[in-house]
Amino acid sequence: MAIRVRLTLWYGGILALLLLLFGGTLYGILQGSLQAGVDRTLEETAEKVQSSVRRQIAVTPALNWAEVVTIPSLDVFAAPDVFVQVRDPQANLAVKSANLAGQELPGLSAVDWGPVLSGTVDLRTVEIGTVRLRLRSEPVLSQGRPVAVLQVAVSLRAMDDALHRLLALLLGGGSFGLVLAVLGGAFLAQQALSPIARVTETARRIAATEDLGERLTRPAVQDEVGQLVTTLNEMLDRLQRLFQGQQRFIADVSHELRTPLTAIRGNLEVLQRGARTDPALLAESLDDIDREVVRLSRMVADLLALARAEAGMRLERRPVELDRLLLETFREARHLARGVAVQLTGEDQAQVLGDADRLKQLLLNLVDNAFKYTPAGGTVSLALSRCGDWACLSVADTGTGIPEDELGYIFDRYYRGQSDRRRGGMGLGLSIAHWIAEEHGGRIEVESKVGEGTTFTVWLPLLEESAAVANHQSPIANHQSSIINRQS
Ligand code: ADP
Repeated sequence: MAIRVRLTLWYGGILALLLLLFGGTLYGILQGSLQAGVDRTLEETAEKVQSSVRRQIAVTPALNWAEVVTIPSLDVFAAPDVFVQVRDPQANLAVKSANLAGQELPGLSAVDWGPVLSGTVDLRTVEIGTVRLRLRSEPVLSQGRPVAVLQVAVSLRAMDDALHRLLALLLGGGSFGLVLAVLGGAFLAQQALSPIARVTETARRIAATEDLGERLTRPAVQDEVGQLVTTLNEMLDRLQRLFQGQQRFIADVSHELRTPLTAIRGNLEVLQRGARTDPALLAESLDDIDREVVRLSRMVADLLALARAEAGMRLERRPVELDRLLLETFREARHLARGVAVQLTGEDQAQVLGDADRLKQLLLNLVDNAFKYTPAGGTVSLALSRCGDWACLSVADTGTGIPEDELGYIFDRYYRGQSDRRRGGMGLGLSIAHWIAEEHGGRIEVESKVGEGTTFTVWLPLLEESAAVANHQSPIANHQSSIINRQS
């Protein structure tokens, strides 16, 4: 059932209930007060008759019922809607007011007659033909003896008429008001919910056309629906950015994968064309192919690491000898260096708990960057030292350096420096290195100076500390900045 219909039904139901409660209470109160008024009239009339009788008794103390009847005229006490009548103790009609004409007020049953004779006032509602009456019966006493029963009645026609009119007003006015309120409520609900219908329609169109550039129209008022539209538009902005980022990423990845493949194919063609017989050319081509294959493997490893990070996979945790790992990296790096000198400037022994393949990937990413951004003739230095409870791996180059305003972004995924946009690269290497370091309970720092070079330092908790670091934050991780720029 539509929200609009549900809202209207609830609204109508609650209003009907309230009207019913209000009408019922009003009717009850009015009926009670009218009846109390009638009872008061009965009591006052009866009292007038009784005091007349009492005056008579003062003259004739032993008054009997026949003498009560001689009271001048009951008509003195009667009024158009007030009737008076006297019965003898045997319940026979003695005298009545003239306005009763051919009728008489009904007697009481034997059961009720007794108590009235012994002093109880009887009040009840009776009917004569179509007329409802309120009837009061009470004894007339002389010297403590009941000598007659006085009956006074008031017609309830006026009260019934007033109550009927009120009921008609409540039912008619209430129903009319209810219909009006339900229609108004339905209209308001329709007005309030129509922007949602428009939002749904636009959202459907976006889904159908896959046009993430389209936005929902903001309603004039910033109410709940307006806020919903703003939030959805913000979500669409984000989705569009993510989607565009992903498209750019796919384009970059295919481009990056194609470049080494083209280089490999070129070198193979050179070999096919006869370079096999030229030892120098053969060595150079094989060297090129080897380098491109290493680059390809690194890219695939990066993509795999990215997929793992996205899937929230944890790394293996085994003891790893960092000095051996660094030596391996150093040997591989020498193959990759083209005109750049590679040196090992320090190598303490250090063991950490972690994943050897990922740690090597981290180092290779840093070394590969160092080569990429260091022109021929420069130097790349690798070092491992123990700094308290930490192992410090550093990769320093004498390359281009990183501008200060880019330092805050280089660890972001897909970020590539302004000057490197044409140089190639997927902007993944450092973000993956950062992820690997963090997964090992460590961190990466960078120091750079444009034109002089860059040093990346990886801090990893030593094996003895690894277990503790897994549970507690490292003291170094508490240091404020991971980026130290030495630009002067
Ligand atoms: P890419 O694959 O594009 O190199 P990275 O995540 O490895 O992506 O690096 C991000 C950016 O950081 C690079 O585009 C480059 O601008 C900068 N960068 C990384 N390492 C170095 C370095 N050794 N020297 C100078 N700039 C670097």
